[in-house]
Amino acid sequence: MTEHREVLIIGSGPAGLTAAVYSARAQLSPLVLEGEPSSTSDQPGGQLMLTTDVENFPGFPMGITGPELMGQMREQALRFGADLVTAKATRVDLSSRPFKVYVDTDEPTYVADALIVATGARSLMLGVPGEERLLGFGLSTCATCDGFFFRGHEIAVVGGGDSALEEAMFLTRFATKVHLLVRRDQLRASKIMQERTLANEKIEVHWNTGVTEVIGETKVERLAIVDTVTGEPGLLEVTGIFVAIGHVPNTSLFEGQLDLHDNGYIVVGEGARTSVEGVFACGDVQDHVYRQAITSAGSGCMAAIDAERWLEEQGL
Ligand code: NDP
Repeated sequence: MTEHREVLIIGSGPAGLTAAVYSARAQLSPLVLEGEPSSTSDQPGGQLMLTTDVENFPGFPMGITGPELMGQMREQALRFGADLVTAKATRVDLSSRPFKVYVDTDEPTYVADALIVATGARSLMLGVPGEERLLGFGLSTCATCDGFFFRGHEIAVVGGGDSALEEAMFLTRFATKVHLLVRRDQLRASKIMQERTLANEKIEVHWNTGVTEVIGETKVERLAIVDTVTGEPGLLEVTGIFVAIGHVPNTSLFEGQLDLHDNGYIVVGEGARTSVEGVFACGDVQDHVYRQAITSAGSGCMAAIDAERWLEEQGL
């Protein structure tokens, strides 16, 4: 049977859960489709579930772990009456109102007057031979999840942004040595992370270094690398590789229905409004610039307030 909601939120990272807190407090009884625990890109709580310490979320002077922070946001949303459902939207139809949301069904599982899209982003992959085959067999995108397995190993981290440096630092707890493979001669990460990384004796930075193949029969045995300036090939003997080279937005559900930028992120204007009236977007799915937990949460608040005002204007 199809269930009707005034506000339906897809996604349960900082954006989705903040939108849930605000919508619930506005008496709009929001329902949040949290995602699926089995998935690495759609898991409840979003990308912060794959993070260790969050040191820059205001209000936690001593830092907090990503999963703890998300646990508290979840509790807050529940406290004000949001309904959280552990499921993933498999199809949406935004061509008429109320909007239809399907969860593995032919008939809509939900219809909603206002829809808040907070589906986030997921890890980019290198796209080199061996990568897909060895994912989970020495190749990972989550140091928090898999770091422990590399106790006493020599491993590599690919990337030069905050994610890569954070992963590299975290992995020094387990690995004997961490090779940081950076494709240019500079890092993209924040200055404080650069300083910490370069001062860490267990991390060796390989500048101008790309990965061309992940080699191993049943598990990672070594990497084929290349000097991105001279083109000279090489081999790096490591038993683990962590890919941390950025993210892509989870927008496949909305292709052809919402306006997207060339890089796939949802176009928003006038706050959190998308190209379809009544559909709002917040968090990493619409932000390719800041991508912080705090900006994500802030945009979730904006989406909820915009949705509430829009519903009021419509007399819904
Ligand atoms: P970024 O886009 O910031 O960095 C991606 C890195 O990967 C860059 O160094 C990029 O190189 C490199 N890269 C991209 N593609 C490839 C490739 N095919 N091969 C090799 N290297 C590649 O992504 P992050 O995930 O690190 O960070 C995203 C955002 O999240 C940022 O705003 C960051 O500040 C934030 N963040 C904040 C944290 C915190 O404050 N605690 C923790 C983690 C992330 P190049 O520079 O050459 O493009």
